[in-house]
Amino acid sequence: MYDQERETACGIVTEVCALSRRVQDGIAAAGEALTKGDRSPVTVADLAVQVVVSRRLAAAFPADPLLAEEDAAALAGHEGTAARVLEEAGRHLGGLDLGSMRAALDRGSHSGGGRYWVLDPIDGTKGFLRGEQYAVALALVENGRVQVGVLGCPRLRLELAGGGTGWLASAVRGGGARLHALAGGAEVPARVDGIGDPARAVLCESVEAAHAAHSLQGAIAARLGIAAAPCRIDSQCKYAVVAAGEASIYLRLPRDPSYREKSWDHAAGSLVVEEAGGRVSDLEGRPLDFSGGRLLGSGRGIVCTNGALHDRVLAACRAELGLESLER
Ligand code: AMP
Ligand code: MG
Repeated sequence: MYDQERETACGIVTEVCALSRRVQDGIAAAGEALTKGDRSPVTVADLAVQVVVSRRLAAAFPADPLLAEEDAAALAGHEGTAARVLEEAGRHLGGLDLGSMRAALDRGSHSGGGRYWVLDPIDGTKGFLRGEQYAVALALVENGRVQVGVLGCPRLRLELAGGGTGWLASAVRGGGARLHALAGGAEVPARVDGIGDPARAVLCESVEAAHAAHSLQGAIAARLGIAAAPCRIDSQCKYAVVAAGEASIYLRLPRDPSYREKSWDHAAGSLVVEEAGGRVSDLEGRPLDFSGGRLLGSGRGIVCTNGALHDRVLAACRAELGLESLER
């Protein structure tokens, strides 16, 4: 079950990874970012990727709605950017015009419920703009559970299968997780590492200090006796690195306790890690809850581990935060 969905999603994500690479390579010269209402940046690549994914999914699974991060409102008053998005998306889609491009963007407005796709067209836009890591993240959610997750990580280097840059990670619930090079080549099973001694673990976290409480996470790492410096990577590439067994922990403790995590930042990555043998939960150890549409319904924070370390990491978080009330 869901093999057709996984295969189609892998094809679409591979295609738009090429689009995103093309735009990222040109971006240093162009500096093409707009600022959205929530003050976060959006680029030609975010919008063009969403247009192409939206149209490809509509063709392959016409009955499935889409919940995606961007919308056409970002283009209001930015005709030059709209023309650039049309140009980039138009390289992939025949007969696209401004009207059909806006409609494709706004098709991503599903609010959750039933069976639907979740898309973060460029996750880690700040990393993308720095010329660093980002991911294209596409997942299929059915009745609040992620069933298929695909992560395209065009700049990620893994040691796996002879090494190389640019990887696609994918998973079907109950069917395991796989990795293969975006450039082509055989799929390899994704497996978390087997590290049970936290002193040997590598912990990854956001580059952006606004997205995670670095100092608190540092204190938790120290409490666990983790010797290595944190590995800072933008985007859901962190999930791919844990799934590939090249880090044991991904922590994301909120800087702002009122921040609610977005479903598109975790749907694909969390399934990839779970199917690679790891565990993903909130700070209380509860599984992530995707039944709420745009916002995760689970509690604060994201704790992602190789599974073997999960309870110890949760205990260290509780001890550091003084969250005795969070005892399961
Ligand atoms: P990362 O690259 O892991 O730092 O995560 C990038 C994601 O962080 C973006 O897709 C945003 O949705 C999300 N984000 C934006 N503001 C915050 C915040 N204050 N706390 C946590 N995540 C955030
Ligand atoms: Mg994102």
